[in-house]
Amino acid sequence: MPLSPFPRVIQPPRPIPRWGRAPGDGPGRTGRPGRMIEPRAGAALPGDRPLCCIACRAVVTSENRRITVDGDHRHTFANPYGHIFEIGCFAAAPGCLGAGAVTSDFSWFPGTRWQMALCAVCRLHLGWRYVPVSGGFFFGLILNRLVSGPAASEV
Ligand SMILES: [Zn+2]
Repeated sequence: MPLSPFPRVIQPPRPIPRWGRAPGDGPGRTGRPGRMIEPRAGAALPGDRPLCCIACRAVVTSENRRITVDGDHRHTFANPYGHIFEIGCFAAAPGCLGAGAVTSDFSWFPGTRWQMALCAVCRLHLGWRYVPVSGGFFFGLILNRLVSGPAASEV
């Protein structure tokens, strides 16, 4: 995989917002590589619009799961290799797999630890799963690797 797993902070630290803890998530479930983060199907909720993996069109998350983190939904970051990522923050991404160890190294969001987030179907690198020290989690997903549904798997 050509993309670096080591993002780097290029924005000044800001106050850490409070996070809601999702049902079933806990500190003990975050550290295992390759583990399904949420076992539920990735289908969007009624009235919602799915956002799908650009490679395999599996449902990853949905419009209604967009959230604001550090004052904005969208953030643009560069990693130490100069790759620029425009990411959007999501409260959940049932279609993602967490991969690799959870680490606090070079976290883009102050006060968070992170791990890679891959498409659960095709393993495309879709972004990162962030675990604030205050609890809960959220996803930072690379926006140009998501496309609007409907997904092929949704019938
Ligand atoms: Zn995929």
